[in-house]
Amino acid sequence: MPSVARRLPGSLWSLLLAVLVIGLVARPSSASRSEIERLLGEMQAAVLAADMDGYMKFVDPSDPVFLQEQRMWADDLRKNTPVEFRWAIQDPAVDQRGTEAAGDDDAVPARNANDAPGEGGQAFRIDGATAEAPIEVVWSMPGWPKPRTLRWTASFRRGEDGWRYSGEKWNRLESEGVLVMYADGLEEAARAVADELPAVRRHVHDGFLFAEDSPLATRVQEVKVYGSMQHLQASIFLSYTDGIAGWNEPGESIKLLIGRRTRAGSLRPLLAHEYGHVATFELGDARMPWWILEGVAELSAEVYGKSRERNDREVRRWKAEGKLPPFEEMAEFDDRAKKWYSQVYGQGHHMLGYISDRYGREARVGWLTAQARGDSLDQATRDVLGLSFEELDARWRDSIGPVEDEVPAAAPDPEKPAT
Ligand SMILES: [Zn+2]
Repeated sequence: MPSVARRLPGSLWSLLLAVLVIGLVARPSSASRSEIERLLGEMQAAVLAADMDGYMKFVDPSDPVFLQEQRMWADDLRKNTPVEFRWAIQDPAVDQRGTEAAGDDDAVPARNANDAPGEGGQAFRIDGATAEAPIEVVWSMPGWPKPRTLRWTASFRRGEDGWRYSGEKWNRLESEGVLVMYADGLEEAARAVADELPAVRRHVHDGFLFAEDSPLATRVQEVKVYGSMQHLQASIFLSYTDGIAGWNEPGESIKLLIGRRTRAGSLRPLLAHEYGHVATFELGDARMPWWILEGVAELSAEVYGKSRERNDREVRRWKAEGKLPPFEEMAEFDDRAKKWYSQVYGQGHHMLGYISDRYGREARVGWLTAQARGDSLDQATRDVLGLSFEELDARWRDSIGPVEDEVPAAAPDPEKPAT
């Protein structure tokens, strides 16, 4: 009996101590959770108000690449303001109920390793000044028949001014000069990127005459690997709906959509195209016509995709069918140019190849550099190639041969240097 009497107060003390400890540990966590929920609410309000500056105040500024991606993302809100946008922490239990209650296909969100953190059992987690939370985002643009829904695990960092949004939580893989950030389940694809990109970079550096010790060649290149089209699109702009496999803009990471298994053969042309953009933006800040950006990216990739001959056949056919628009119509990334989506790439590629063959690599790089530093297309063409762009265009059109009978094209030499 005495032992029981002594034990009871002991148990009570343990209980009290446990309550105290749980209280101390749990209180900052739940306080932080509500702070993060408030942050998400304020960001949501800024998105709906197309308030770019208001939104950017809540973005973690520690990663300059992510910061630039978010700037461009937020800037698009002014042109394309969503009619609906909500995001919230989606706890695994809530996640399950929501999915069951949805009941129809339209309401079931995209499901893959990247978009369904709830399925992996990941819940809100806080670790000192960093936190992770599975979130669900639902949004709709004017005219959309139904909203889009995505899920990912978001990360947050607490700075002096409180919690800030740090974007998706990524797995990381490093190789020679390359940092690959990827979602759960995409490790094999990420490994392929890490293996292939270093050699692709060297090829592109050669093509752009960047020395091995140049800032571009010595910089770590970030790549983000997405598992679904909608997730990649939403990371660019909420309004983005064009089907794409890759993306790059100045100061941003290379973004790729690749499946769980990716063969090097199909990955190399995609990497070379996107890294071709990275190299082009390195030449200067002025924006070149869209067809030049895509044309030189395609040129960077042609040795991997054996695409020069195939593209030449296509361009001959377009000429015969009257489908080679004025380059002027493909200058901006707008609806007028999007009518000629294939030509932006194919016609641009063909013209860049023509300039390379006629004038050489140094002249091609000089022509690009002059425009990247602010010269107009016509001025750069006159200064570097010695004729007006109108004359260059006419000569290029004359150079395109007639449609040939289908003959198997000679396989290009895979060792051919960049042109
Ligand atoms: Zn491109």
